[in-house]
Amino acid sequence: MNVISIIVPCYNEEESIGYFYNAIREIGEKLEDAELELVFVDDGSKDNTYEKMCELHEKDNMVKCISFSRNFGKEAAIFSGLRAGAGDCFVVMDADLQHPPETILEMYACWKQGFEVVEGVKKSRGKESKLHKWFAGMFYDVISSTTHMDMRNSSDFKLMDKKVVRELCALTEKNTFFRALAYWVGFKSTSVSYEVCERVAGKSKWSYWKLGKYAVKNLTSFTNAPLQIITILGIIFLIIGAALGMDAIVSFIKGGAVGGYPTLVLLIVISTGAIMISLGIIGIYIAKIYDEIKNRPQYIIRDSKK
Ligand code: UDP
Ligand code: MG
Repeated sequence: MNVISIIVPCYNEEESIGYFYNAIREIGEKLEDAELELVFVDDGSKDNTYEKMCELHEKDNMVKCISFSRNFGKEAAIFSGLRAGAGDCFVVMDADLQHPPETILEMYACWKQGFEVVEGVKKSRGKESKLHKWFAGMFYDVISSTTHMDMRNSSDFKLMDKKVVRELCALTEKNTFFRALAYWVGFKSTSVSYEVCERVAGKSKWSYWKLGKYAVKNLTSFTNAPLQIITILGIIFLIIGAALGMDAIVSFIKGGAVGGYPTLVLLIVISTGAIMISLGIIGIYIAKIYDEIKNRPQYIIRDSKK
């Protein structure tokens, strides 16, 4: 009998957890040659999420639960769940049933065929605003082209073999980006597509501000492209500067007056802007180095039930 560990990060999901558990039970009954293990990770919820998890743990021993001392973020919750699971393969999915549980059956079938990573790929992005879709599209375009991994429409919904999970858990970095790391580790992979469903209850925890921070954090933790862009920008400025300089010298020699106060102002404004942005980008990377070097744990577990 194979064991499938299902890792579920939860933040303020007291309303969704019951529905989620029932849906997973149904899937468990459809699996003939596998058992399920459910690892709920309460990411410092402010409602009764953990109490709900513990109730399920009391009545069903396939349920394990972990509670964080505060909100450490979905990434931390995923990694803590992966470390706690004991299955032969692992599925990471959201608690709000936006990732359809039936897809687990398809993923499991792929795993039995020998695939070690089975990506859940969104057929469409579900009901998101145009602006949201545009930002997400741009983010994945940048990250896909700079990391040379096609991450368009990827999500955190994945099945992974325990070998893959072992490698992921052995990584020492604290600024993790699970979605991209699952590509980065390699292994034999395939994908199954799924339709994003409506949230079963509660509401999404993402604001545009949070999403923006998430994008910057993950982009910079996965690619050095912004730093290279600075260098390219510098070269462009140098070329423009040289051309303008030559022009100024030539017109000086010719005896023409070097006018152009507006040009000067414009140049100063543009170049200071570019310098400030560049410093900011470098700052983000330095902050990341500082964060990693402090070597604080990615999360703190307050309580757990195995
Ligand atoms: N989540 C979490 N910690 C957080 C935010 C979210 O563990 O700080 C969980 C949340 O409970 C859910 C999953 O991550 O199971 C996805 O969150 P959400 O549905 O809010 O995001 P969306 O589906 O809108 O991307
Ligand atoms: Mg959701």
